[in-house]
Amino acid sequence: MTAYTNLTGIPLSVALWLTTDDYDYDQRSNHISATTLLKPVRQIVLSARVPPQDAIPDIASLVPSRMGSAIHGQIEQSWLKRYKEGLIALGYPQKVVDKVRVNPTPEEAVGDIIPVYLERRAERHIDGYVVSGKFDFVADGRLEDFKSTGVFTYMSNSNDAKYIKQGSIYRWLNPDIITQDRMAIQFIFTDWSRQRASIERAKGYPQNRTLEHVLPLDSPAATEAWIRTKLSQITQYQTAPDELIPRCTDEDLWRKSPVWKYYKNKDKMSRSTKNFDTQGEANIRLAEDGYTGVVVEVKGKVTACKYCSAFPVCKQKDEYLKSGELEIEEL
Ligand code: SF4
Repeated sequence: MTAYTNLTGIPLSVALWLTTDDYDYDQRSNHISATTLLKPVRQIVLSARVPPQDAIPDIASLVPSRMGSAIHGQIEQSWLKRYKEGLIALGYPQKVVDKVRVNPTPEEAVGDIIPVYLERRAERHIDGYVVSGKFDFVADGRLEDFKSTGVFTYMSNSNDAKYIKQGSIYRWLNPDIITQDRMAIQFIFTDWSRQRASIERAKGYPQNRTLEHVLPLDSPAATEAWIRTKLSQITQYQTAPDELIPRCTDEDLWRKSPVWKYYKNKDKMSRSTKNFDTQGEANIRLAEDGYTGVVVEVKGKVTACKYCSAFPVCKQKDEYLKSGELEIEEL
């Protein structure tokens, strides 16, 4: 049984919910999940080296994941328990409703029906590993993934590459069920604002709290090649010293953009004269002022380490703590 801390003193009614973990863990030593495969090699390899006493999660950090599970669970239950009533309530004709089959067996999934699959786990054995994954939803051969997340994730497209890779692994695991080349992310925004939707419409701010985002899948051959490469890296660095393990990239680290600070007077560096988003803009201002000042690049802060399970043992993160590129708020 997993132990938890409750350092922020969350009241018992909510705390108990946060200790409820319905993930179907697999204890096989050569098992790896699709979601783990998407993580950086450093994170995967070093997470396994964290001593158990340093790997106790605090329940406050579990709120987003538990909210996600609650949404997934309720969507699944809606389809399992009352899809006929729901489809009729949405105005679908009876003849369409009669064609729907939820989680049909291969024998049932033939003929003129609309097959719908939910939360189905599949696995494949490859290069000494067992790769498994559980997709959210497939209807008529098209994969859908439910993501409860902030609007920024959608507007920045910051996770699209990951979503495509994850969806492609699910297709590689379920070629008989996922037959379409495109998938859909069903965003359920946790911080959507009606006011921002109105003000920032032209910037692409979503106009509703939910939004479908269609993405192409990689080919099964390309996906398998990617999986093999990733597995061979994991094997290669399994026991390697920290210094030899590939470093997390700025993208892995969710590093914010750098800022170029321009100081007009080199002798007064306590406050910059102006900050620029690009070095070019800062240099133009430097030239305009006759090259008497100075431009200093300030690297963007990194964020992913705060949520990384390898945090206690990772030396790359120590560098960022020392340089100030990573800031940890005290509880
Ligand atoms: S702690 Fe940071 S640098 Fe280290 S593996 Fe995790 S994300 Fe990468």
